[in-house]
Amino acid sequence: MKKEKLIIVGSGPAGLTAAIYAARADLNPLVLEGPNPGGQLMTTSDVENFPGFPDGIMGPELISNMRTQAQKFGARCEMKAVSSVDFSDPKNLKLTVNDEEISAQAVIIATGSVARWLNLGKGEERFWGKGYTACATCDGAFFRGKTVAIVGGGDSACEEATFLTKFAEKVYLIHRRKELRASKPMQKRVFENDKIEVIWNQNVTDLKGETVLESVELTDTDTGEKSELKIQGLFMGIGHDPSTKFLNDSLELTNGYIKVKNHTNSSIPSVFVGGDVADWHYQQAITAAGWGCMAALDAENYLNSLED
Ligand code: NAP
Repeated sequence: MKKEKLIIVGSGPAGLTAAIYAARADLNPLVLEGPNPGGQLMTTSDVENFPGFPDGIMGPELISNMRTQAQKFGARCEMKAVSSVDFSDPKNLKLTVNDEEISAQAVIIATGSVARWLNLGKGEERFWGKGYTACATCDGAFFRGKTVAIVGGGDSACEEATFLTKFAEKVYLIHRRKELRASKPMQKRVFENDKIEVIWNQNVTDLKGETVLESVELTDTDTGEKSELKIQGLFMGIGHDPSTKFLNDSLELTNGYIKVKNHTNSSIPSVFVGGDVADWHYQQAITAAGWGCMAALDAENYLNSLED
């Protein structure tokens, strides 16, 4: 069986930042990049809020730069996905990768999460980045003075609807039921904001426009009646799915996200965690990168302690 000192699972900003730090600490990390190398930034166009790029940078270019930087210090990046793990022995962690078993002394899980999309099956991807987006924090500023909508009834949708009113002239919150799931204080902020109008009992069932999004089709969840809503931006606030399936209950989770203590420790002492796979709240490239850095420093400390 192939034996590794440190394996980093995931290749978004958390995984690649962990790789830069681990490689510079001579830990010779193996980065298993996963089924979608680069993660969510690969489908993000302009990134205007990552420090160090005053003119912005395209998401794929940012990822490519991070990978080059990690490889420069000796990180080995392989486009392979982990299908299952066996963490029953913390001193001999086992990962199954393309039917091969690899063992490691320490592992950093940085597999991120995936924003839920409508999945209408009607070619909606042609509007991605052209009015259809999942990140209000990242893209809200592009909609100054415009009319936008956000789908969802949870804390994310309500928080982001409120945030979007800083830029947009009008914000519709489209929810499929007659009652919000969000906490009461979050709901209050929505109901008290004059720029937000809640549209109840409606699903978005189609996106329309020539080259950019111009309107959405709404379908009433009670009557099935269809209507059209003219908007320039549609934000998804229907949650994220953290990528933890391959862990098969080997680590403790909270609401699907990996449970962490002392910043980066999972429930297994040799398994560290960084980025959105443990973060339901901030979910930013820069917070993921910072968390990846912390995971690498903690993994380094742990590996050093084995040599004492
Ligand atoms: P969430 O609580 O799971 O809410 C998702 C919302 O999207 C629900 O209202 C759901 O509708 C709706 N939805 C799901 N799939 C849909 C679909 N296909 N079409 C239309 N609507 C759909 O997710 P979240 O709001 O992202 O929050 C995740 C966690 O983070 C929660 O624990 C939340 O409390 C926490 N959070 C906290 C804060 C804060 O405290 N500041 C901020 C953000 C998030 P239904 O209600 O009908 O199921």
